[in-house]
Amino acid sequence: MPDAGTETLRCDCGAIVMTIQGDPVARAICHCHACRDLYGSTLLTATAWQPEQVTHDGDPEALLDYPHPLRAMHRYSCRHCGELVHGQNRLGMIVIPNARFARHHAGQLPERLAPTMHLFYASRAFDIVDALPKYLEGWDGPLYA
Ligand SMILES: [Zn+2]
Ligand SMILES: [Zn+2]
Repeated sequence: MPDAGTETLRCDCGAIVMTIQGDPVARAICHCHACRDLYGSTLLTATAWQPEQVTHDGDPEALLDYPHPLRAMHRYSCRHCGELVHGQNRLGMIVIPNARFARHHAGQLPERLAPTMHLFYASRAFDIVDALPKYLEGWDGPLYA
């Protein structure tokens, strides 16, 4: 195994401190409507982690849980500074936007966290020109050709 990093992420005000261990389960750019709705962004570039890889060391009271009204998804933000700190997908995995890691590394996303695929490309708002595989829906389904 290559050196698996440990990352510590703090929200803007420092009330929420997350320690993330090991390598992500998935690294993707997601174009689905659910992410667009939940994260308020045309596409979501993020990594997904098993819950046991992520520990909260800050103030537990600071974490504000927003459950999506229709889907089994959550968005967590800081009650004090309002920063979106992570989400939870319908598989129970912790979803962390790449921007959080990039900020922690002076604006540069570590290569080991870089996206490896597009998901739900069939729902995209605009075409993307890159060399990554583009799954029309989930990564167990067909690719965009
Ligand atoms: Zn905060
Ligand atoms: Zn999505």
